[in-house]
Amino acid sequence: MVVSKDGPVNLGTVLPAAMGKIRRVSAIPTLWHGIQFRSRLEARWAAFFTELKIPWEYEPAELEWYVPDFIIGFKRRRLLVEIKPTEEDFEYAKHKIKHSGWDGDALIAVSGQTREWGLMLDGDTPWDAAMLGYCLKCKTPTIVSVGGRWECRSCDGGNRDIWWAFDCSEAWNMAGNATQWRART
Ligand SMILES: [Zn+2]
Repeated sequence: MVVSKDGPVNLGTVLPAAMGKIRRVSAIPTLWHGIQFRSRLEARWAAFFTELKIPWEYEPAELEWYVPDFIIGFKRRRLLVEIKPTEEDFEYAKHKIKHSGWDGDALIAVSGQTREWGLMLDGDTPWDAAMLGYCLKCKTPTIVSVGGRWECRSCDGGNRDIWWAFDCSEAWNMAGNATQWRART
């Protein structure tokens, strides 16, 4: 419950932009490999992508009213990535991406503990679950929408070229360890 000067406010009626500001407050800036991330969770995703050898750029572009967290430079189809701590943030993230002017594919990522990282916009396919696979043809990880094109984002590999049992949990845990807070000695 949030209380304003006019009395209690139902958060469900607050504009999405205002909700974003409220959530930002709890983020802890985190330095990792010389880059200042807005939150420890973003730093963890950067470490995770690096562990998986997925090429990423942090806050590389300014769109309409919106700076995406990451853009992944897959060779055939780039991917905008927005990092969110919980699935409750999906609607706000979709709203921001929709109005940003970005016309490519997008991922709202919540956790790398399993192959299902979050929600994905893939070409003309509506938002659907995102899934990680490993392309045996070009030997790189790739991410698809379950309801979209099951194709590698880096080469012309299709469904049969991609190994769908790729386990990323160890890389996720390593990324967590690499970006946790440590006292300076
Ligand atoms: Zn490939």
